[in-house]
Amino acid sequence: MTERTTDILIIGAGPAGLAAALYASRSLVKPIVLERVSVGGLVLSTEWIDNYPGFPDGIAAPELMERMRQQAERFGAEFVSDEALTLDRTETGFRVTTAGDVVYQAGSVIITTGAMPRVLPVKEESKYRGRGISYCATCDAAFFKGKPVAVVGDGGSAVEEALVLARGCSKVTVVHPLDSLQAEPILVEQLRSLPNVELVSGAAPAAVEGEGKVERLRLRLAAGGERTLEVSAVFVAMEFVPTGDLLKGLVEVDAQGYVVAPESTETGIPGLYAAGDVRRKSLRQIVTAVADGAVAAQKAGTYVRTRKRKVSDTPEN
Ligand SMILES: Cc1cc2nc3c(=O)[nH]c(=O)nc-3n(C[C@H](O)[C@H](O)[C@H](O)COP(=O)(O)OP(=O)(O)OC[C@H]3O[C@@H](n4cnc5c(N)ncnc54)[C@H](O)[C@@H]3O)c2cc1C
Repeated sequence: MTERTTDILIIGAGPAGLAAALYASRSLVKPIVLERVSVGGLVLSTEWIDNYPGFPDGIAAPELMERMRQQAERFGAEFVSDEALTLDRTETGFRVTTAGDVVYQAGSVIITTGAMPRVLPVKEESKYRGRGISYCATCDAAFFKGKPVAVVGDGGSAVEEALVLARGCSKVTVVHPLDSLQAEPILVEQLRSLPNVELVSGAAPAAVEGEGKVERLRLRLAAGGERTLEVSAVFVAMEFVPTGDLLKGLVEVDAQGYVVAPESTETGIPGLYAAGDVRRKSLRQIVTAVADGAVAAQKAGTYVRTRKRKVSDTPEN
């Protein structure tokens, strides 16, 4: 087991973690950023970003994330590929253990672990996952070119997934449990205008069927009865589940598991901050994630410096 010490440990390298890394390193507190999958976070599950300010023609999602990483590295942020497993308070700050068998002693911790899509609520989910049930249109759309597919979900991600799929699939049926799609109106209009897209509201997935791969999606209709869609794939873009397990029992979370923290990102535990999608908020986007990350880093930097000053001012030092 290796032991490392850092002033600020950032857990998660999506937009919130990347912005926190930039702001922390520019305040001359060299942060370490742990990332368990890929630097860039959830943004990497989409292709193109059209609503991040500063890019009038849009920008490829991986490029935007790579630029954020390079910017943070330029000022000294260190990125480590590892997964944080536990987080505990200590007398001097926090202790974080990782899957890579490293123990970090950190003066302050910023949690930017984001949120993950909810799985399709049918009992056949694990049987057909990777055999027609997919959580990423950008990754898997090409496999279903010219074929009919369904998208399940009623938020912005469902609309974006459907727009990607409609480019190549013969028909895209968007199944959403609510009466209307909870997404940017401009995108919903774009979707409605496509000839190969059908929106089915007030419907919930009941079962997936097929010989070794997805062939049908059975729906339960809120108005009563069932409907069966003949589809080759079901793309799931439902609500999200926050990835805040590390904080369980430590800080307040809401009924869905999002960390209850104000705009200051302070969790109630001095030195511990929650930024980005993992925090309870009304808009989960790159622009709000980076704003949170910047605020958290500024707070963490001040916290660490103040604490160090207090320690060096005590008479025995
Ligand atoms: C399909 C899709 C399209 C989208 N399109 C847009 C768009 O066009 N514009 C826009 O503004 N937003 C878009 N979003 C939303 C945007 O991706 C999120 O709001 C944003 O990524 C949130 O950033 P974050 O840093 O809070 O979390 P995330 O991006 O989720 O990053 C969290 C990171 O933490 C890591 N992590 C989690 N737990 C641990 C652990 N224990 N140890 C180490 N690492 C850990 C994860 O691997 C992940 O990389 C889209 C989302 C989806 C799903």
